[in-house]
Amino acid sequence: MQINRVGIIGSGVMGAGIAAHLANVGIPTLMLDIVPSALTQEEQMKGLTLQDRAVRNRLARMGKERLSKTKPPQLYDAEDLDLIEIGNLEDDMQKLENVDWIIEVIVENLEAKQALYEKIERIWRPGMIVSSNTSGISIAQMVAKRSLEFRRSFMGTHFFNPPRYMKLLEIIPGPDTRPELITAMKAFARKCLGKGVVVAKDTPNFIANRIGTYGLMVAAAEMKRFGLSFDEVDELTGPVLGRPKSATFRTLDIVGLDTFVHVANNVRNSVQNEWERQAFAIPAYMQEMLQRGWIGDKSGQGFYKKTNGNGKKEILTLHPDTMEYVQRKKVKSSSLEAAKQAPDVKAKIRTLLSGQDAASQFVWQLCKQVLLYSAEHAFTIADDLESIDQGMKWGFNWELGPFELWDVLGLEKTVKRMLAEGDAVPGWVLQLLEEGKSSFYSDKIESIDNFYIGKSSKGIGVIKQNSGATLYDIGDGVALLDVHSLKQAIGPDVVSMLRYACAEGADRFDGLVIGARTAANFCVGANLLLLLMEIQDDNWDDVNWMVKQFQDACMGLKYFSKPVVAAPFGLTLGGGAELAMACDTILATAETYMGLVEVGVGLIPGGGGNKELLIRHLEKIMPGIELDLQPFINHVFELIGTAKVGSSAKELRKLGFMRATDRISLSRDLLLADAKREVLHMLAQGYRAPVPRSMPVVGREGAAVLKVGVMAMKEGRYISSHDQAIANKLIHVLTGGDVAKGTRVSEQYLLDLEREAFLSLCGEAKTQQRMQHMLTTGKPLRN
Ligand code: NAD
Repeated sequence: MQINRVGIIGSGVMGAGIAAHLANVGIPTLMLDIVPSALTQEEQMKGLTLQDRAVRNRLARMGKERLSKTKPPQLYDAEDLDLIEIGNLEDDMQKLENVDWIIEVIVENLEAKQALYEKIERIWRPGMIVSSNTSGISIAQMVAKRSLEFRRSFMGTHFFNPPRYMKLLEIIPGPDTRPELITAMKAFARKCLGKGVVVAKDTPNFIANRIGTYGLMVAAAEMKRFGLSFDEVDELTGPVLGRPKSATFRTLDIVGLDTFVHVANNVRNSVQNEWERQAFAIPAYMQEMLQRGWIGDKSGQGFYKKTNGNGKKEILTLHPDTMEYVQRKKVKSSSLEAAKQAPDVKAKIRTLLSGQDAASQFVWQLCKQVLLYSAEHAFTIADDLESIDQGMKWGFNWELGPFELWDVLGLEKTVKRMLAEGDAVPGWVLQLLEEGKSSFYSDKIESIDNFYIGKSSKGIGVIKQNSGATLYDIGDGVALLDVHSLKQAIGPDVVSMLRYACAEGADRFDGLVIGARTAANFCVGANLLLLLMEIQDDNWDDVNWMVKQFQDACMGLKYFSKPVVAAPFGLTLGGGAELAMACDTILATAETYMGLVEVGVGLIPGGGGNKELLIRHLEKIMPGIELDLQPFINHVFELIGTAKVGSSAKELRKLGFMRATDRISLSRDLLLADAKREVLHMLAQGYRAPVPRSMPVVGREGAAVLKVGVMAMKEGRYISSHDQAIANKLIHVLTGGDVAKGTRVSEQYLLDLEREAFLSLCGEAKTQQRMQHMLTTGKPLRN
C-alpha cells in the first residue's frame, strides 16, 4: 500500500490536526471544507463576494491557520504547514482524484456523512482508500448505499485529539472491508504515523470511548452516592490510580462537556439494553452546565474555574447542587495517604483499594463497575482483551488497562468480593476461574521482542548488570545498553557500564545501542542529588573524578571501534543529551525533547556537551569556504545559555543537536528494533570509527563579543549577576579560552576547560542553591 498523498474533508479540530500529523511525517494533504453561505464583516469591507476564492476557501484556510497557533504545537516543524493545500468541496472535489486516501472528518452527523460519501464515490477510483474519523457512528450505515467496490475500500480510522500526541488509532473494518486493506493500514499507521493501532468492532463509540465514557458516568454517579466533590474525585482518580493528573472532571474540562455529552448520547441512543441506556443518562447538573455554556476550557469555566479574587490566582470548583464555584477540598483518607507512599502504580492501586475508608470504597466501586462493564462487552467491541487494554492506555493515558488492573487486584479475590456484593460477573470470567486460571494474562511473559529482531547464535541475555544499567545481548552481534536508574539519571553506575561496554565488555558484541527499554524518558540528566552531596561534603576530588569519568565515558563511546547508536525519546536533557551526542548516530523518536539545560541548576554542561554542539555547528561549514565562525559560536552559546529544549526530533535537527544524517523513528515501540537495524547497517557498510581531529576556536576576540552582549543583558536587568557569571564561564569554554582567534585546539583541551569551569561553578553558593531548589521543587531557581 502506497500512501503518497491524502485528501482530508473537514478542517475543524480533528481534520486540521490529522493534516498536521500527516505533514509531520512528510505526507502532503489536500484539505477541503464547505463553502461559507455568508460573508463576514471583514470580507464585506474588503469588497469580496461569495464567488471569491478567498471566501470560498475560508473555512479550510482558517483551519490551517489555527495550526500555527496551537499549544502544544501540532506540527513538529512550523515550516511543514506548506504541505497542507487547502480548497473547498465545490471547486476542488476533482483534485481528490489524485490522492491515495481520503479521510472524512466532518460533523458527527450520519446524514451529512452519507451525503458526502455519495459525492466522494463520484470521484473515487479503485485502489483509493476512504475512511471516516467518526467517534462512534456506525461504519456500515455510513456507506450502506454505496457500491460494493467502494465499501470494500472503506473503513473507520478514529484518531484521538490531538492527533500528534495521542497514540491511539482505532481502525474499524466495515462488513465489506477487504481484510488485506486493514492489515496494510495497521502496518502503515504503526510504522509511518507512529500510532498504536487497535482494531475495533463496529459498535457505538468503538472501544476506548465506550469504556472511557462509561467510566466517567460511573464516577459521576458514585460521586453523588459518596457525597464527594469534583476535586475530591479527581484526587482519587488521578495518578494514584495510574491515570493522568487531569483524572476525571479536569479531563472533561479539557475535552469539553459538549463533546462528552455528544459521545455519551451516542451510546445511549444506540444501545437496546435499558440498564445501559440509564447508565449513559446525563446528570441534571451537567445538562444545566451545558445550557449555561459552562463547557470547560473552551468557555473559560466548567467543573473548575480560574479566578483572580483579591489579587490572588486560584482555582475553584463547581458545587453541583448550588451551581456556585467554591473552594477546593483535600481528600482526608488514610488509604489514600498510604497509597501515595507506595513505590509504584501497582502497589498504589492495591493499597488504595484494600483500605476500609470511604475513599477506598469509592474507588473500589468505580473500578469494579468499569471492570465488569469491560468484561461484559469485551468480545462485542473487540477481538481480544489486549485491544481493550491498549485502547485505554493509548486513548485515555491510563497506565493499566481494565484487564491488567483486574490482574493487579487479583482475579479470584475480586470476583469473590463482587459476587458477595451481589454483582453479576460475566460467565466467561467465572469459567476462567473454574478452569483454574488466576489471571487474564497468566501466559503473558514480559517480552523483549519489540527490540529483538532476528535470531542470534549467542541468544538474548544479560551480559552485565548493575543498579543503573544493563548490557544485553540482543542478537546478531548487537548489544543494548539499557539505562534504568531512577529517572534514568546518569550516576556512577551508568557511567561504569558505559566504560565496561567500551572496554572489557567490547568483545561480546560488534555494535551497540544505547536506550532505555521501559522508561518514560530517555534520560533527564546527571544524578544531581549525588553531585550536590559530594559538593556539600567538600569532596572536590570525587566531584572532579565523577565529571572526568563521564567525560571519558562519552569520549570512549565516540571513538569506540564499533558502531554506537543512541535511541533517545521523550526528555533527553543535560547528561542525556551529552550521552546521545557522543554516539555515532542518533536515532530519535519524533517526540524527543533534547536540550543542554544545565544553566537552570547554575552549571554548564560537563560531559562534553559544549564541544559536541560546537562540533555539530562547525560541521555545517563546507570545507574550503571562508566563513566567520562567530555566528556559529553565538548560536551554540544561545542554545546552552537559554537552556533551549527542542520540541521534536525535526526541530533538534534544525537546532543542531541532531545531524542531518541522524535518523528519526516514528514509533517508540519500534525504536530499539530500528536502532539495532541501524547498527547492523553500519556494520554491513564496513564501519570505521572516527579519528580525533583538532578544531578552530574564536578565542579571546570572540569571547569579548559575547561578553559585551551578556553585560548589556545584566545592565538591562534581564539577567542576574549569577546568570552573568555562568554565561561568562560558558563563553570561556565555547571560545576556547585564552587563545588567539583561529587557533586550532583538541577536543581534550576543550573538555579540560569545561571541567574546570564546571567545578568552579559547583563551588558557588548560588549554584548550590539552584541545585537544591531543583531537587526539592523540580523547578529552576533564578537567583
Ligand atoms: P469540528 O466541528 O471542529 O469540525 C467539523 C468540520 O466539518 C468543520 O470544519 C465544518 O465546516 C465541516 N462540516 C460541517 N458540516 C459539513 C458538511 N455537511 N460537509 C462537509 N463538511 C462539513 O469537529 P471535529 O471535532 O473536528 O470532529 C470531526 C469528526 O471527528 C467528527 O466525526 C467527530 O466525531 C470526530 N472526532 C472528534 C474528536 C474530538 O475530540 N473533537 C476526536 C475524535 C473524533
